[in-house]
Formats: sequence, structure tokens, C-alpha cells
Amino acid sequence: MAGYLDTPIEYLKGVGPQRAEALKKELDIHSVGDLLMHYPARHEDRSKVYTIASLGNAEASVQVRGRIISTDLLGMGAGRRFTAILQDETGMLELIWFQGIPWVSKSVKPGDQYMAYGRISDFKGKLSMAHPELESGNTGTQGKGLVPVYPLTDGMRRRRLDNRFMVQITRMALADSKLEIPENLPENLLRELRLISRTQAIKQLHAPADLGMLEAAQNRLKFEELFYLQMRHLQVKSHRNQTVRGPVFTEVGHLFNTFYKEHLPFTLTDAQKTVLKEIRADMKTGKQMNRLLQGDVGSGKTMVALLSMLLAADNGFQACVMAPTEILAAQHFYSISEMLEGMHLKPVLLTGSTPKKARTGILEGIKNGDVPFLIGTHALIEESVAFKNLGLVVIDEQHRFGVAQRAKLSMKAQLPPHVLVMTATPIPRTLAMTVYGDLDVSVIDQLPGGRKPIQTVLRPGSNRPLIMDFIRKEIKAGRQVYYVFPLIEDSEKLDLKSLMSGYDMVNDYLPAPEFRYSMVHGKLKPEEKDDEMRKFRNGQTDIMVATTVIEVGVNVPNATVMVIENAERFGLAQLHQLRGRVGRGGNQSYCILVAGNKLSATAKKRMDTMVRTTDGFEISKVDLELRGPGELDGTRQSGILDLKLADIRHDEAWLLLARAKAEDLLNADPLLMKAEHFGVRQELGRIPHRTVWSKIG
Ligand code: ADP
Ligand code: MG
Repeated sequence: MAGYLDTPIEYLKGVGPQRAEALKKELDIHSVGDLLMHYPARHEDRSKVYTIASLGNAEASVQVRGRIISTDLLGMGAGRRFTAILQDETGMLELIWFQGIPWVSKSVKPGDQYMAYGRISDFKGKLSMAHPELESGNTGTQGKGLVPVYPLTDGMRRRRLDNRFMVQITRMALADSKLEIPENLPENLLRELRLISRTQAIKQLHAPADLGMLEAAQNRLKFEELFYLQMRHLQVKSHRNQTVRGPVFTEVGHLFNTFYKEHLPFTLTDAQKTVLKEIRADMKTGKQMNRLLQGDVGSGKTMVALLSMLLAADNGFQACVMAPTEILAAQHFYSISEMLEGMHLKPVLLTGSTPKKARTGILEGIKNGDVPFLIGTHALIEESVAFKNLGLVVIDEQHRFGVAQRAKLSMKAQLPPHVLVMTATPIPRTLAMTVYGDLDVSVIDQLPGGRKPIQTVLRPGSNRPLIMDFIRKEIKAGRQVYYVFPLIEDSEKLDLKSLMSGYDMVNDYLPAPEFRYSMVHGKLKPEEKDDEMRKFRNGQTDIMVATTVIEVGVNVPNATVMVIENAERFGLAQLHQLRGRVGRGGNQSYCILVAGNKLSATAKKRMDTMVRTTDGFEISKVDLELRGPGELDGTRQSGILDLKLADIRHDEAWLLLARAKAEDLLNADPLLMKAEHFGVRQELGRIPHRTVWSKIG
């Protein structure tokens, strides 16, 4: 059904083959439809015409109208400039050009009426406007209203295809009598939400009648964008639920019960119980679980993982845990082994540094089913690892794994295993819904009781003697301390050097051997790293000097102080992760951020946020505000966030509405067979199937 929208862009009046080439190459605009989907980035309010006398040193650009009474060519070489004096009934304004002088000097005619648009600058009381946008003629008494400003590329500008050109051809397309934009939202939804039609919205977005209509257009198109994103998520999810069968864990058996009754070292928090129920419900239905488990650092995700693994074992399946680093894998291995003590269930650790000899035996055990629980790094997804019957995959700190790696792991079983993705980088609900919209999400929103909130302070480097005194006292009281230095410019060599001088600095205050040190950095061999970690964990050392390699998952409950040098260089998520290394036992813990006095506004905001709150969700919200949705850990690669109009930072209400309406629609008409959903079905068919990043199995 080729309509006007499919018209090749070169056939649009005012375009032609050469400009069409530029539009295709630079903006991916191939048809009239593409042109109309190239939304303005913003609009300039040109409805108001200012009198010259009323102009101050305005921040925004303004528009004035008047007659050019004189022009002048001044200066030589680089100082050369062309000026024109614009006069209205209230005063005079100087217009200045430093570039394009030959062209301007020819086209600006003294005596003629002009509309000038640009930014005013005030030099010692004399107002001027540099490089104004100038239009000749007596364009009535009204301004041009809201003028769309389109995203352009340098390549476009080089060919003199500017915003005015985009406005012109877009208007041309909108004015064509053959224009017909099919509606893609059901009528009743439009009525219910009071959204304007698609045709109207697109017209008003490109050429708004007024601010009210512009907003109506934006709302309609925002909703549409979010609605289709959610429709795709929900379709992926329901497709998976219908076609992909996971292993069925019917039993809560002996292993789970024994562990729960006899080995559980504490009572579960309510949040842990709730999440466990959600996981249980998934696992017994025969649908394949794809669940994201969000929980702040220290909220006890590992125990939830372990209990889920016991469910797998009770039903005759193997389970594995995949962690992003050797330290983390080892950490999981130790804590899980410890918890399973006396249970006759021996987990096995497999990483890149597992010796060859041991490896052969381990691989055999995985294959014949002797290994119930396998814990490791991405070594788990190597070809040589074959499971007898893998039923559950737990992925910790998921943002560090790529899609391909996860998919590979899932392939290792006849039935796609249940997948539990755990992340300690909480992301706001809106973001989760946008990026992981096809996953089920569980949240542990509660820390185990009896914990004292970590006290966080910001201190300048000049306070170091006091900080060191404080550390000394803590160590004398039997506690342990992390001392972290940032990575310098991503260079491992510099990194090590700065860590060494950092170590020397700390050592000046707290000398070895009186104080015992562990040191961990990127240059160490895995077994060396492991050794350093182990000494710290066992209390054989007092101070862990480290770069950010200790960032995630390390669990040493006796450590009570986290000092972070050059804290301003860290992102919020990282700071939060680092801080989460302390406050894991019963003792009051502290986080000391050491930073310079001159901080940028955003660095200041990061520091203030850390001092103000320990709530990971709150912190991630600020992070989202500061950095924008595409920059948060775990979402960067997704591409799903390339939204054209909606901004999930400000459009939460629309997002929730879109999700709810998409759910309603799919519940009422799962296959979109109803006549009134024809437009929806068509639209979904048109959208290219972007990779849904969170898809696992
Ligand atoms: P995270 O969610 O950051 O992975 P962990 O699973 O490492 O957190 O748990 C942090 C600490 O809290 C561990 O020492 C763990 O044993 C302990 N813990 C977990 N759940 C509870 C609970 N319900 N009550 C008391 N302590 C708990
Ligand atoms: Mg953890």
C-alpha cells in the first residue's frame, strides 16, 4: 500500500536529486514519511517581535523588525566585519557579521524592511546582534510563531542545507493534498486519553499553531513512542512465555527444607521472602523464568540465589552462578560453600585460572552431574563446559556481561534454564521498565535488620592527618579498612604508579609492619589477587589499599571504614558500590570521601548526594538526572533508549500510562485480531525488530 508517505524524497518539490542524496546520507531520510518522522529537536518562539528600546542583554534569542538605515564595511584581515544599523520606531541596533561578508554585503539593502533574529549582546551599553538570521520584507505585524529547529549534521550545513531548508521542505510535504497519515492508536484510546490524531499531531509538531497545540502534539507522539516500546517488550515476553518451556521445579524438597530449617544463619527479611515466592512461582509453572533481581548492596541477594539453587537441586537440576570477575566468583564460591557446610552439597569453582589438571576433573563432574553447583567467571561459557542438566543460571552484576555471553550460557541445556539476573546497581523503575521491559523484575527493598546506616562525610585532602587518626583508632579496635584510589586515565601503568604512591602516603601515617596491608590492583595475577583478598577476608591484614577492582561484591563484614581518594572522579553508581563494601556487619561503618575544594557543579552534586543518602534507588535517580538515561551502567549498550520525544526522566507518568494501556490491549486482544487494532498491528509490523537487549533465552 504505497501512499504519499512512501514517495521518494527526491520527488518532493524543492529537493531534487542532489539534496536528496544529502538527506539520505546525512539524516537517513529517504521518503516523505521519513522527513515527517524527523522531529524537531526544539522550537523557537518567534511569535513575539521586540522593540529595540525594550532589549536588554537577553539570554535567549529575540526578534526585532525595522529598516536598515546604513551599512558599513570595517577593519582589515581577521578584524574585518560588516555592520548594518537597524532602526525601528524606538531605537537603533547594530547588526554585525564577521563571516560570509561578500554575500551579506551584497544582499542587505539600506532602506529596506527586515526582520532580524538573534542573540543580543551588550558591549559597554551599546547593543548589537552578531550574525542575525535576516529576512527581508514587511512580514506583517505578527512574527512567525513557533519555528521548529531540526537536528542537522555538519555535512548538511556545509552544503548550505540549513534549518530554513528543512522547514521549507517539511511545510511542502505537509501542504500536499495527497498527504494521508494513518492513525496507529485505537480510537477509544485517543478518546480516553484525550490525545489528538496522528495527522494533527505531526502537523502541529512541525508547524504549531501555538504552545498549547505544540504540547498536545508532543504528548500524543510521546505516548505513541512509549506505547510501542512497551508493546514490543510485552510481545517478546508473551512470545517467550508461550513458546519457551523451562524446566519445571515442582518440589520444595529435602535439600531446601533441610537448609532452611537447619542451616539458615539468620531469618530472611520480608523482602527476601517475597522475592523468593516470586521466583518459586515462576519455576513451578513450566514457563522459563527471566527475572531481574534488583537489590541494593548488602540487601542479601546471594541468599536468595542460593535458595533458588537448592530448589533446582531438589528437582534434579544443576545450577550455576556466573560473576564478572575472578574475585567476585571466588567470593561467591567461598560464601556459598560456607553456607552449605554440613549439607553434602559441594559447589565447584571454575575460572580462567583453574589449573588444567583440576579442570579436567571438574569438567567431567559437570558433565556427569556430580557437580550440583558451578560457580565461576565467563570461563563457564567456554565450549568445553557441558552440563548434564542445567536448570538455573544466576548471573551476578549482569551489566558486565554481553548479550552473546548470556545466550551462550543458555544454550548449554536442552530446556532453556531459568535465568536470574542480579544487579546491585539499582536503576529507577522508569528505566527498568524501558530497558528491561520484557523481564520480570523483583526488588529487595529492605536491608537486613540490625544494620546501622553508614555515616558518610566529605573531607578535603588537608584533613588527612585526622582521617588517619580515625583509621588508626578503628584498627586498634579490631576493625578493617578499605583505602581506594581511582584509576588514572584508564592506564594500568599510571594506575599502578598512583596506587604505589598512594600506598606510600598511607604508609607514612600508618607504618607497616605495625599495620598490615593487602594491595589489589589490575596488574596482579588472579591468584595473587585472590591471595591478597583472602588475607584481608581472614583478618590477617588491616588495610586494603586498592583500585576499583574491589568494587563489587566483596564481603568482609569486619571492615568498617571506606576511604575514597579523589572521590570526585568517580561516578555515583561506583561510589555507591564502593561504599557498600562496609556496613556489612553489626558495627557502625563510615565512608570518607576525600575530594578537592574546587568541585564542578555535578561533582558537588554527586558528593552531596552520597553524604545525604545511602538509598541506592535514590542515588540512581540523581545519577539519571545528572547523566541522562543512555549513560547509566547497564543501559549504555541498549539503544532502546534512543527515544525521539520522550525523556524518561520527565515523562514517568506517560511511561506508566503507556505500559498500562499496552498491557490492557494485549490482554483484551493478544493477537491483535480485532478490527479496531488493525492500525496497531500494522505499526508493529513496520517497526524494525531492534534487538531486545534484555532477551536472554
Ligand atoms: P548483596 O545483595 O549485596 O549481594 P549479600 O548477599 O552479599 O548482599 O549479603 C550481605 C550480607 O548480609 C552478607 O553477609 C549476608 O550473609 C547478610 N545477610 C543476607 N541476608 C540477611 C538477613 N536476612 N539477615 C541478616 N543478614 C543477612
Ligand atoms: Mg552480591
